[in-house]
Amino acid sequence: MTARYNQSLEEVIRTLQTNIEQGLTTEEAQRRLEEQGPNALEQAKKTPMFLRFLLQFKDALTIVLLLAAVISIVIDPHEWIDSLIIVIVVVLNAILGIVQESKAEKSLEALNQMSAPKATVIRDGKKTRIDSREIVVGDILLLEAGDSVASDARLIEVHNLKVDESALTGESVPVTKEVKELEEVPLGDRVNMVFASCNITYGRGVAVVTTTGMDNEVGKIATLLMSTKNELTPLQIKLDQIGKTIGILALVVCIIVFAMEVLSGMGILEAFKTAVALAVAAIPEGLATVVTIILALSVTKMVKQNAIVRKLPAVETLGSTSVVCSDKTGTLTQNKMTVIKVYHPDTGVVRLENSDDPEVIKMLNYFTLCSDGDIVVKDGKEEAIGDPTETTLVKASLLKGYTKSDLYKEYARKEELAFDSDRKMMTVFYRYHDRLISITKGGLDVILARCDTIPNKEEILQANEHMANDALRVLAVAIREWESMPKLEPTIVEDHMTFIGMVGMIDPPRAEAKEAVSLAKRAGIRTIMITGDHKLTATAIAKDLGILEEGQLAMSGSELQNLSDEEFSEKIEQYSVYARVSPQDKVRIVKAWQSQGKVVAMTGDGVNDSPALKSADIGCAMGITGTEVAKGAAALILTDDNFATIIASIKEGRGIYDNIRKCVQFLLASNMGEVFTIFTASIVSLLTPLNLGVPLLPIHLLWVNLITDSLPAFALGTEEAESTVMERKPREKEESFFAGGLLSTIVWQGIMIGSLTLIAYIYGNSIDHNVGMTMAFLTLSTAQLVHAFNVKSHHSILNKSLFSNRYLWGAFLVGSLLQILLISVPVLSNIFKLVPLTVTQFAICILLSLSTVVICESVKRINRK
Ligand code: ATP
Repeated sequence: MTARYNQSLEEVIRTLQTNIEQGLTTEEAQRRLEEQGPNALEQAKKTPMFLRFLLQFKDALTIVLLLAAVISIVIDPHEWIDSLIIVIVVVLNAILGIVQESKAEKSLEALNQMSAPKATVIRDGKKTRIDSREIVVGDILLLEAGDSVASDARLIEVHNLKVDESALTGESVPVTKEVKELEEVPLGDRVNMVFASCNITYGRGVAVVTTTGMDNEVGKIATLLMSTKNELTPLQIKLDQIGKTIGILALVVCIIVFAMEVLSGMGILEAFKTAVALAVAAIPEGLATVVTIILALSVTKMVKQNAIVRKLPAVETLGSTSVVCSDKTGTLTQNKMTVIKVYHPDTGVVRLENSDDPEVIKMLNYFTLCSDGDIVVKDGKEEAIGDPTETTLVKASLLKGYTKSDLYKEYARKEELAFDSDRKMMTVFYRYHDRLISITKGGLDVILARCDTIPNKEEILQANEHMANDALRVLAVAIREWESMPKLEPTIVEDHMTFIGMVGMIDPPRAEAKEAVSLAKRAGIRTIMITGDHKLTATAIAKDLGILEEGQLAMSGSELQNLSDEEFSEKIEQYSVYARVSPQDKVRIVKAWQSQGKVVAMTGDGVNDSPALKSADIGCAMGITGTEVAKGAAALILTDDNFATIIASIKEGRGIYDNIRKCVQFLLASNMGEVFTIFTASIVSLLTPLNLGVPLLPIHLLWVNLITDSLPAFALGTEEAESTVMERKPREKEESFFAGGLLSTIVWQGIMIGSLTLIAYIYGNSIDHNVGMTMAFLTLSTAQLVHAFNVKSHHSILNKSLFSNRYLWGAFLVGSLLQILLISVPVLSNIFKLVPLTVTQFAICILLSLSTVVICESVKRINRK
């Protein structure tokens, strides 16, 4: 691979066979893409199917089962059918496991694809936005602050381009880029190149792609980054551990029971069967899988609600979010600006439509000249291109009869200092006839502080207050004349200016934001507005949205900077609005809330927002206006930039957590019930003259665990969030998974199911052992299918949502049907050692199963009281 930084630019362009103005043609790019492969780092090899199949056999249950199968056949070769069934079930279970895992994996992959980085290139002479993966050598890459560099490229043009290359070189200060030929130099000094995965922090530039994919500098260190291992979420880890602990406990109990039974004179074979049955009953298979699948399903669902989850654990954290810090512009407001009023020292404050003063028009034109946005006429319709703050200024000029291109006839644009939220200003240089002028626009406070010719400061401040109190966003403009082009440093350029005037524009609140704020409030979630805008403007809008309430305050960035971290943390509860803040202040706000034990969501769009997005518990990046860098740092991407989407996601997050708890409650209660049945029967047989025998065979328990348990469990995972989820306070950060009496619920419901099964068994066993087993089996499995409806809701099941989950009804019908097949098809019932039941016996089983509803409803009623 030839290095490109030490060649002349002409040579690079020639060897890469491209064209600076036109870029590549689409066909050529397609051809190169096929030849060179996608611009992506190689992923670590996926585990082959065969290996994944084998890996399914590593969990405790499977090992116990296989062992049991082998031992059964050794002890009693006539019982080979039992062993065969166990093996079939285990294999089926493994296949099911793989299918589900791949499904979850696929939906997560699709999600990654959705949040895949994009890049702007020139193709066929036109600016085009494409997936970074499609970039090829020779593409002309357009770079802008906030972009993540998509591939290594040689610079053709730069405008104050600064790049953070810390990911590659460890150098934390952004590197200023230049267009020049270099000698042989180390990576960190190759200032005429940009490198993949580094972030553009400032300015803009144009570059030609020299390498892609693994040939990029980052590819050389990519082996270090290569890992497709999906990190488990905290909940998955916790449940994995719970599962393991229960598994080990179960094995110990099994060994004890086996020993006791053998000692008390029971045959080894009988004792062994009980022990295996107990193990099968107790080990909660599928606990962690269920969670993985629920999480994967829910992220797919959230995409439809305009939220892309980039980090899986975020789904869990969402549910416990207690503070949402939101940007104002575009998130709480519509970002559809309109200039309403103007101020010029000659005229005072007037409405835009009422002013045709030549000085005012000149001021509006200065605003227009100092902006990158434009309004073009396309198919007879006006179309705004660029930042809404800027396009509304262009529009104001247009109303007075000037287009940007009209102005460009007299003004020749030279240099610029791009806008950034820290400075809250931007500057553009123009050659106007034989003069060189700089025009700067920005927030009034920052502009005033940098002007030394100000006509009437008192009046200006009053005018500003007047407009801001009307919730108008105020921008000021100032100019300065130059002899020659100065060094392009903000401190030099944006100083000693002459104040010209200001405009006040409205940015109406989003209709749905107000509702979302009040929904959040009911759910115990505090909404905080953070804005670069003026305090008065912010206050007016915050009041309107219900964010700023009686007794709450607004703070400006400079006030915040005067507080120590301790002082700030103490006072934080009082403040609902932060105005004139810089992105750095956001980090302090996040940390201060976190120090109060809160779980904080924070929105952001710019490059400098990424530290705040990273330190927040849930960083939310804007999908439309957000930079690639912000998206990369976020846990959640709001594809509609809307505040209401955050609140909807929190609701979803709470629902998902509820569902996971419901699944775990259902699965563990079932295991508990099975253990209770077997264990009680064996203790009774040991301690009393009554010989109860084994109520359920291992294959019965396997069937229940794999069919009548799993089906409803997955269905419970798809439950809609209960209507009351947003009427609760947020979950505490450190709250145990079993909080709120989940553990005791599992225990009593387990005992309930176990007792009902045992009653059926004892009744049937008094007639015949096989009748007893059949009745126990039927009661247990039907009770499970019915009990899923009890778990479905914290409220009475006899309400309108009884029919809301078609998967649950599907699970119920399929489960019941299979159950009936097992009993009525002779081949199957022989294998399962089931016998035909009389109508009375059958009815007893069904009544016992249905009584779970009566019991659970009564308990719910008592709890409610
Ligand atoms: P939010 O932080 O809620 O999105 P914001 O849009 O006001 O609000 P920034 O974009 O950081 O936040 O802008 C901060 C301030 O900079 C604005 O209040 C305004 O005074 C000024 N400003 C915004 N856009 C421009 C621009 N294009 N040119 C010059 N100044 C601007």
